[in-house]
Amino acid sequence: MTSTTSELLAALGVPAAAVTGGSMTVRSPIDGAVIGAVHEAKAADMTAAIARAQAAFLQWRTVPAPKRGELVRLFGEELRANKSALARLVSLEAGKVTSEGEGEVQEMIDICDFAVGLSRQLHGLTIASERPGHRMMEQYLPLGVVGIISAFNFPVAVWAWNSALALVCGDTCIWKPSEKTPLTALATQALFEKAVTRYAGAPAHLSQVLNGGAAVGEALVDDARVALVSATGSTRMGRAVGPRVAARFGRCLLELGGNNAIIVTPSADLDLAVRGILFGAYGTAGQRCTTTRRVIAHESIHDELVARLERARAQLKIGSPVEPGNLIGPLIDKAAFDAMQAALAAAREQGGEVTGGERALAQQYPEAFYAAPALARMPAQTDIVKHETFAPILYTLKYKTLDEAIALQNDVPQGLSSAIFTNDIREAETFVSASGSDCGIANVNIGTSGAEIGGAFGGEKETGGGRESGSDAWKAYMRRTTNTVNYSRELPLAQGVKFDV
Ligand code: NAD
Repeated sequence: MTSTTSELLAALGVPAAAVTGGSMTVRSPIDGAVIGAVHEAKAADMTAAIARAQAAFLQWRTVPAPKRGELVRLFGEELRANKSALARLVSLEAGKVTSEGEGEVQEMIDICDFAVGLSRQLHGLTIASERPGHRMMEQYLPLGVVGIISAFNFPVAVWAWNSALALVCGDTCIWKPSEKTPLTALATQALFEKAVTRYAGAPAHLSQVLNGGAAVGEALVDDARVALVSATGSTRMGRAVGPRVAARFGRCLLELGGNNAIIVTPSADLDLAVRGILFGAYGTAGQRCTTTRRVIAHESIHDELVARLERARAQLKIGSPVEPGNLIGPLIDKAAFDAMQAALAAAREQGGEVTGGERALAQQYPEAFYAAPALARMPAQTDIVKHETFAPILYTLKYKTLDEAIALQNDVPQGLSSAIFTNDIREAETFVSASGSDCGIANVNIGTSGAEIGGAFGGEKETGGGRESGSDAWKAYMRRTTNTVNYSRELPLAQGVKFDV
């Protein structure tokens, strides 16, 4: 383990024994160095963890919601105090450039703040009853144990989106992080435990982390005591998880792959569009679910836009994400690099003209996988363009009419994020209307990635249909009851039904 990682882990409160001597070797994508050896849970460990979480739930659900919010507030304080250390660990383990690592922890802080306010606003409706002397209302009540399965590319924020809400909703959490990023999960759990020690009367095991691969996740997925499984990752994973949870009538919240496009129209501010596309396509080395993978540009501005993107692309500085000035960090591993190369080969075979995409810094980092961002000018929306390759590849396409552009934008299996750059209000409103983008996120004059926590986040079609984070996404973490209260001395039946002897 490098001293930097071990120092960070110690500062964040993770005992050395938790990150040494285990069977899961953790490598930094920055240079391929081993930075930990984490202990892998077994299916039986998961069964025991679920029993503990269920026992904790029975206590936690009776704590008033604003008091539950206080624990999340304390956790937010721990995150604020440890922001730079946790962000640095995100960079070391997931390869994010420093400002993006810090942005990820800021997102955790933001959702904690949101959840604290929410803890006083878990409102149901009161409803007019058709019967005299009756009142109807609905309540949102704690749901149970929430299982959180997360992906490597947002190793901690996605957990926070789920757990901050789940905890104020009165639920308990079990986290199965990505097998590629167990260290940041252990550090986050340690910070949560610090908050728990400052909170009088918290039941033990409100949040637990179990590291391991798909088999550990499956033990969570199949257990009927887990009321909600919130799973973030590839569509392949969602296809396995969704039906298994449905088979036991559990609830599932799926946040899966995206294939996000930006439409650029003739009236667009091209300076803005270039900046939005550049960050969207190449930020996080193309490893965001909301990464811009396609640009659909009007034929009148296509060539100019692509020329500007090409110039900017070639200037992006590739290098260690923890060194200032670098904007493109490494891919997570060799498999990601190989998938990128395969996609670029397919793009060429399907008529694309590709620039960039080659391996970078191989001499300096022989055990790590940096790649030059790639631009692929495509003759049409071919099969490879419809496929999510989790790497910095931007496909460009031309269109003639807005209807054609919107049809292209929607003609992919995924439905997460989308954007239009235009100064024409008709085009903008059409894009966000019922006949516009079919995605969960549709933006105007900003890119596809970098969502704020205040809105509900998620997408349609193969993205899985789940919504988490802001707005009313909290309702997924609670069960709704409808209550009819009769304060009269009669017992009238609804719809005028008579049943008297
Ligand atoms: P992945 O699907 O390989 O793994 C995600 C998680 O699922 C891991 O924790 C993994 O161990 C677990 N898993 C895999 N198979 C499982 C199974 N059968 N049962 C239970 N758990 C299982 O994804 P990844 O490579 O870590 O992440 C990249 C993918 O995640 C991309 O497709 C990206 O678009 C997607 N993603 C989506 C969102 C979103 O909010 N929509 C956010 C981040 C990432």
